[in-house]
Amino acid sequence: MKAKTFPLSKAELDELVRSYPTPFYLYDEGALRENARAILRAFSIFPSFKEHFAVKALPNPFMLKILAAEGFGADCSSYPELILADMAGITGEDIMFTSNETPAQEYRAARDLGAIINLDDITHIDFLEKTAGIPPLISCRYNPGLLKGGNGIIGKPEEAKYGFTRDQILRAYGLLREKGVKRFALHTMVASNELNLDYHIETARLLFELAVEIKEKTAVRLEFVNLGGGVGIPYRPGDQGVDYGRLAAGIQAVYERIVVPGGLHPLGIHTEWGRVITGPYGWLVTRAIHTKSIYREYVGLDASMADLMRPGLYGAYHHITVAGKEDEAATETYDVVGSLCENNDKFAVQRQLPKIKPGDYLIIHDAGAHGRAMGFNYNGKLRCGELLLRPDKSIRMIRRSETVDDYFATLDLSALGDFFV
Ligand SMILES: *Cc1c(COP(=O)(O)O)cnc(C)c1O
Repeated sequence: MKAKTFPLSKAELDELVRSYPTPFYLYDEGALRENARAILRAFSIFPSFKEHFAVKALPNPFMLKILAAEGFGADCSSYPELILADMAGITGEDIMFTSNETPAQEYRAARDLGAIINLDDITHIDFLEKTAGIPPLISCRYNPGLLKGGNGIIGKPEEAKYGFTRDQILRAYGLLREKGVKRFALHTMVASNELNLDYHIETARLLFELAVEIKEKTAVRLEFVNLGGGVGIPYRPGDQGVDYGRLAAGIQAVYERIVVPGGLHPLGIHTEWGRVITGPYGWLVTRAIHTKSIYREYVGLDASMADLMRPGLYGAYHHITVAGKEDEAATETYDVVGSLCENNDKFAVQRQLPKIKPGDYLIIHDAGAHGRAMGFNYNGKLRCGELLLRPDKSIRMIRRSETVDDYFATLDLSALGDFFV
């Protein structure tokens, strides 16, 4: 069993909270960069490879700048996410715009930036032409329907709202060529938090076979396929993380079997991973402020589901350690909870932990993706900020905590006095 680690000692935390009180997110830049390099090394076996980091997983421009420096692009799905990528210096075809139910102005913004537009539906060809014009490079999102088994979180493809059917996608490339498109790509996204290598290799096979069929039936030669996101991370201490080398080798074997004889070599491989890029390198750092003993034993934290909603939303497991008590026996059974007036505001339910006292630091692991990003303000909760641990061990605040003024910022309170009821 691989122990879950945290880069700061209890003494270092004591020092840090004097400048930055809990709760906060902490990201480890050195570990993040090492992970990015390991991915690029493993996938360098392909003629061309591009990872477009899924901005929604960690929408902070400082983090995007680090990933861009490592050679990653961005996967955006909204206008603000496009702005974030642009702020971080990620431009042009380094941006993949994978959206759905896309508003006209967002297509226009994506075109202005020269992003690769990834269409979600056949009707969007006309919609795009009328609103933003058709760019010379277009990708289409494939929904394999019954051809692909379901995945725990994302569900069955035939029940998912995304993408084109097989018939539609075969028609779409011909239509796009008539409208002047010169360069083509194919995308799918059928998994979420999937640790099984074979599932991802099978997705690649599905896309490679379709790429060959597209070439045979429509004479359109794809420039690249995008395997989407969904690579899992080992949230539980016993889980086995994805081995990038084995994943790349598995995809390469299918590439040799299908792409090369199909006459599509060299075909680019793109991904838009989020979770596996930043998830394990971020922690939500909290403190116990209360313990409570009723029908169960509770530990109340200074953070809540408004800071990290995955446990409350999906019942997701996040490992928890207590700073300075890593080696103590887990003698207690706790529900670890936040302060929201919602009974699902629980970071852990009936979790075995060492004896906890108010003031203890509880470290919530694997919070670097879909963590702070999914935060919200229900119940008047203010979202916490984000700190970056730099490779030289210095700390940089990359987002401050919200204040009461932020909470009221969308109200025109000057008009309230004149508002008679
Ligand atoms: C969410 C999402 C991703 C990233 O998914 P991860 O599970 O974080 O890898 C990539 N592409 C699309 C279209 C998405 O919706």
